[in-house]
Amino acid sequence: MSLAIVWFRRDLRLRDNPALAAALANHAQVLPVYIHAPDEEGPWPAGAASAWWLHHALADLAKLLSARLLLRHGPTTDTLLQLATATGAAAVYWNRLYEPAAIARDTQLKRALRAAGLQASSHNAALLAEPWEVSNKQGEPYRVFTPFWKVLGARGLAHGPCAVPSLQRRLLSVQRVAALAPVALDEFGLLPAIRWDEGMAAAWQPTRAAAEARLDEFLADGLRHYRDGRDLPGRDWVSRLSPYLHFGQLGPREVVAAVRGERVGGEDFLRELGWREFAHHLLYHFPHTSEEPMDGRFAVFPWREDKAQLRAWQRGRTGIPLVDAGMRQLWATGWMHNRVRMIVASFLSKNLLLPWHEGARWFWDTLVDADLANNSLGWQWTAGSGADAAPYFRVFNPVLQGERFDAHGTYVRQWVPELAAVPDKWLHKPWQASKGVLSEAGVVLGTDYPCPVVDLQASRERALAAWGKIKNSR
Ligand SMILES: Cc1cc2nc3c(=O)[nH]c(=O)nc-3n(C[C@H](O)[C@H](O)[C@H](O)COP(=O)(O)OP(=O)(O)OC[C@H]3O[C@@H](n4cnc5c(N)ncnc54)[C@H](O)[C@@H]3O)c2cc1C
Repeated sequence: MSLAIVWFRRDLRLRDNPALAAALANHAQVLPVYIHAPDEEGPWPAGAASAWWLHHALADLAKLLSARLLLRHGPTTDTLLQLATATGAAAVYWNRLYEPAAIARDTQLKRALRAAGLQASSHNAALLAEPWEVSNKQGEPYRVFTPFWKVLGARGLAHGPCAVPSLQRRLLSVQRVAALAPVALDEFGLLPAIRWDEGMAAAWQPTRAAAEARLDEFLADGLRHYRDGRDLPGRDWVSRLSPYLHFGQLGPREVVAAVRGERVGGEDFLRELGWREFAHHLLYHFPHTSEEPMDGRFAVFPWREDKAQLRAWQRGRTGIPLVDAGMRQLWATGWMHNRVRMIVASFLSKNLLLPWHEGARWFWDTLVDADLANNSLGWQWTAGSGADAAPYFRVFNPVLQGERFDAHGTYVRQWVPELAAVPDKWLHKPWQASKGVLSEAGVVLGTDYPCPVVDLQASRERALAAWGKIKNSR
């Protein structure tokens, strides 16, 4: 009876899983495997919040697979070769990843498996179109989103989710093969030793069932508000599907199939999924952009170093309420609203003039949806050094952004409770309120809540001056 290994990575679902579907179509039995190999993730091994998510997502997948998911430690190539020998498997199936370190590892793995006489078969579970399938008329990759999205749309988002044959009686029993030597999930050490994860546990359920429920909930309400409401951090009008998409507990084709045809909000929402595609397109074709600027002029940008200000930003103690609200939401829940991500990133890289890499690293460690492609694009776009970035002089003003997108302060009051009683008029700029207003609200600036770490106007001008120094360099 022919057996195939299905190697799970960030495709932690049974539906719309092309590698699993192909293995089941071609083999009588499958052995599902997850291999923990953080050393193979290059300079970006999972951050603390992602590791937490991964632990729970693996526990969920193991349940969905009736406890027949085999967990092993890396190195990956040796482990898969050893498992194939122990079980007599003829083939290994997996879904592709697009980060540079993963591509290098998978290329080498494919070679080793084939050299050992095994079939190696990789598939696309993560993207609507793979990075090499979309190019401009000159056959080159895109650097600007709108034409990229046009081409992707015209190509058709038509491929629906793929059907996966039934797993019943097709899973190899791990217990039957002693040489498989399974390890327990806890041995991966993904959960924090000091339990700082209560906020994340209250905010999220990292399971497939929760992903489906969240998609249904969003379709029932959030989507129709999405076009205008997606910019309001105090409302629940975005999907919050990002961690499920990152870990592949939900596939983009499943999301497109569910959203398609929804007249209100559907197009706007699909466009955001398009940004996810674009981010992967860029990281694949320009693999240096997780570390280096896409726009070469920024290689000599005069970044500052200021540990105290970096720490104030990380901890949500900059004295700028909307920035602090975002950073505290991130710390508490592992997620931050997109508009606020842009605002805090602009504040760090422009007003504080601290390197965007510092921000990207912090996000990497604290986001449950930390994703190398999306994070690199988001940071480079906001810092002005990325593909299709906003013009540099568009420095987000967190006061005006707050007054526009959090006019009644719902968001700031939730995350910066010490300012809860400050009237709307002053909430986003408490340093401009009179002592009387502040004392009525029970706030002493510098004691209950920090004074701003920088002057917004002066720091904006400093950023423009820094840009002036490099804009003509090449
Ligand atoms: C500085 C910065 C860093 C970011 N880092 C990440 C990251 O590490 N991981 C991550 O998934 N997203 C990142 N984003 C993009 C975006 O903020 C999140 O994808 C979004 O907030 C997730 O919430 P949601 O699922 O409710 O999004 P929705 O608005 O409901 O969008 C649906 C999906 O589309 C995708 N998407 C939406 N906006 C973007 C975008 N601008 N770029 C790429 N994909 C997008 C996401 O997969 C998202 O789940 C970053 C943005 C910025 C400005």
